[in-house]
Amino acid sequence: MKSNQITLTFSSIAENVGIARLLIASVGGQLDLPLNDIEELKVAVSEAVSNAIIHGYRNVPNNIVYLNLDITNNILSIIVKDEGCGISNVEQAMQPAYSTDPERMGLGFVFMQSFMDELQVESTLEVGTTVTMRKHFKQTPISSH
Ligand code: ATP
Ligand code: MG
Repeated sequence: MKSNQITLTFSSIAENVGIARLLIASVGGQLDLPLNDIEELKVAVSEAVSNAIIHGYRNVPNNIVYLNLDITNNILSIIVKDEGCGISNVEQAMQPAYSTDPERMGLGFVFMQSFMDELQVESTLEVGTTVTMRKHFKQTPISSH
């Protein structure tokens, strides 16, 4: 498998969650991942990007979300970064069903954790949040791509 790096920067509007999903689905297809794995990657990326827009930037448009994909040595690394409000207590925020918004389920980090092999969250108040997720995949002996 060739190594590959892709960076996408986009405005903090909900419409761009779908763009991020399309990108990761396309990359998952190139890697010949099973459809179920691609579905899980789409959910993990959607959750991280939605969090950046909704929480990091508090739904204010004209901010920038950074999505970085890296494929090296059978590991797909996904970084979603915002320069928004930051998280005061990351450990608490990652607890299942914890949300600062009573209307929400508080399950975004749970999905990221369960669908990815690694999840790292770094956050600083008023500086922003960086979510790094990794998925290990098998080398495909023959690829049509
Ligand atoms: P759901 O994802 O189920 O709609 P949620 O977004 O509240 O609900 P999580 O995605 O698990 O749940 O996030 C938990 C909490 O962490 C959020 O309620 C929010 O307070 C905080 N948080 C998550 N991502 C960010 C971010 N990028 N910037 C600031 N706060 C964040
Ligand atoms: Mg969320």
